[in-house]
Amino acid sequence: MKTGHRCWVEVSRSRIVANFRALVEVVGKGVEVVPVVKADAYRHGAVEVSRAALNAGARWVAVSSVDEGVALRAGGIGAQILVMADFLPVSRQALLDYRLTPVLHSLDDIRELHRLASARNTLTGYHLKIDSGMGRLGTRASASEIAQAIGTSKSARLEGLMTHFASAADYDSGQTEEQTACFDALRAEIAALGIHPRYMHAASTIAIAYGRRETWYNMVRPGHAIYGYVSPLRSGASDRLIDVRPALAWKAALIAVKDVPAGAKIGYGAIFVAPRAMRIGIVGAGYADGVPHRLGNRGKLIAGGRPAPILGAVSMDVTTVDLSQAMHLVPGDTVTILGTEGDTSQDAQQLAKTAATISYSLLCGISARVTRVYVD
Ligand SMILES: *Cc1c(COP(=O)(O)O)cnc(C)c1O
Repeated sequence: MKTGHRCWVEVSRSRIVANFRALVEVVGKGVEVVPVVKADAYRHGAVEVSRAALNAGARWVAVSSVDEGVALRAGGIGAQILVMADFLPVSRQALLDYRLTPVLHSLDDIRELHRLASARNTLTGYHLKIDSGMGRLGTRASASEIAQAIGTSKSARLEGLMTHFASAADYDSGQTEEQTACFDALRAEIAALGIHPRYMHAASTIAIAYGRRETWYNMVRPGHAIYGYVSPLRSGASDRLIDVRPALAWKAALIAVKDVPAGAKIGYGAIFVAPRAMRIGIVGAGYADGVPHRLGNRGKLIAGGRPAPILGAVSMDVTTVDLSQAMHLVPGDTVTILGTEGDTSQDAQQLAKTAATISYSLLCGISARVTRVYVD
């Protein structure tokens, strides 16, 4: 039986659990921590991550699409699943079939959910998203219009009121305060009209990690932090409250190792020419695996515990590195794309920066071709 792989990620379940617990600890009792496992848990594997978090006490998980929710049900996840961005006509029946909780974004959505649920003689819960100023998903209707839609949609039950922030990492901007004030005003008006949803939520990783406590209400929606990442602030300053660590290491095998003379052209377009005799390694991971094409001639992998600069263009299936600092490596040996080897480490934040992208995009870009291995 074959057990090795050409390119794989190792995901630590205990690290996921530790990160989840760090979040629970910081928000305290009475605040539900909902791990966001959309995009296959930022490629960490939604079923495994959900399982780990639910075993550690989570009661909800959040995904983006109905397909993602259905995949969790198929994987045996019985917990409450919030579907944050998919109340499309093609998806609505499946929401009910699979007991998924939709986030609704308009008053028409509320009336439609009521119609679907009453046709089945059931009562279906939903969360209503408020556009408090991000200008993306969410209703901009007034409290009285919302109350009216709710009042005439008895088979749809409002379980949560939520919003999402556009600039939580910008401490020089007042946008988060403005959005919070807008959300709070609407909450108060809705309460005055006798509507009291069980959950209120707004915060994702940044608003939790940097202590925007007034946005935590009784539910928070961290994704990035579950996987061990908190992006740096974009402006201003605030103390970081949580210590989380990456749960994923990304590795690949050396397919070939060889010595090339000074002047040798390396890879597509010959964008690298060896300035001296070099030992090079051809690594079995390319842009089809998620290594950003932008890393051509930029950045490094880790080989033999040392930085191994990327040479030439990243191609679809392979990436060439300089092994001059790791002369003992042979074909079949492992190099690290993300993770730690000896004293050298590289995380998604660092590699993303070199590739002029963001850590979220780098993680989500790890492709389905990359085998996932779970470790404790
Ligand atoms: C993706 C997402 C989150 C999680 O964001 P992180 O920054 O990864 O914590 C929370 N809420 C909504 C609506 C999202 O789309």
